[in-house]
Amino acid sequence: MHLLNRFLNFFLPTACSYCRSSVGDSPVPYFCLSCWSDFSPISGPLCPRCGKPFGSPEALSHSPDHECLSCRRHPPRVDQSLSVGEFEGSLREAIHQFKYRPCRSLGGPLAEWMADRVRLTQHPDLVMPVPLHRKRLRQRGFNQSLLLAHGLSERFAIPLSFDNLLRNRFTRPQVELSGEERFRNVSGAFALQRPAEVEGTQVLLIDDVYTTGATLNECAQMLKDAGASSVNALTLARTL
Ligand SMILES: [Zn+2]
Ligand SMILES: [Zn+2]
Repeated sequence: MHLLNRFLNFFLPTACSYCRSSVGDSPVPYFCLSCWSDFSPISGPLCPRCGKPFGSPEALSHSPDHECLSCRRHPPRVDQSLSVGEFEGSLREAIHQFKYRPCRSLGGPLAEWMADRVRLTQHPDLVMPVPLHRKRLRQRGFNQSLLLAHGLSERFAIPLSFDNLLRNRFTRPQVELSGEERFRNVSGAFALQRPAEVEGTQVLLIDDVYTTGATLNECAQMLKDAGASSVNALTLARTL
């Protein structure tokens, strides 16, 4: 019996990945409702450019366009970045499970969690996930950013473009690198198969985690070089 339970649990995890208590009748896989409801959304005031929260609640009271020091020193290529949650606690664990375990079935619920909390200020022409290199795609079996982009594209009724922007150079995982190294690591790593398709369009890039913005900026550079009129970015979570 013990062996049978272990066998069944292998296919149907009953313990929450974060707190290890029973998942009960949670509507999402791998997480109990309490941990899933405990994700920390990022709230304002935020840098209008990169979405970084300001320390002081007064930061934007006199100048709503005031950008953070980092954006003023190194203006990003992405026009506006917004992250929905803080990369910590149970959300961090959910992203870890989603990407590295890998738990593909978390893609839909995580995209829904994003869509429920974001209000798009403009309606983009295209939603585009940050691509994986085909070698990484083979290792993981799916592109986590594409699953998020797919959910958001359906919810907001925006066409999804998933095979135009490609990662044509295999790079080290960004998590292994420091800030400056991350920008060098992804430099020239992307290409557009059909550049004419993005000319004059407003693109919304989707990624799972925003850390330095290096990957998103490299993609934005590529899209703007091809004539995209604006490139915004939306990520599930952000490191603070
Ligand atoms: Zn839990
Ligand atoms: Zn900023």
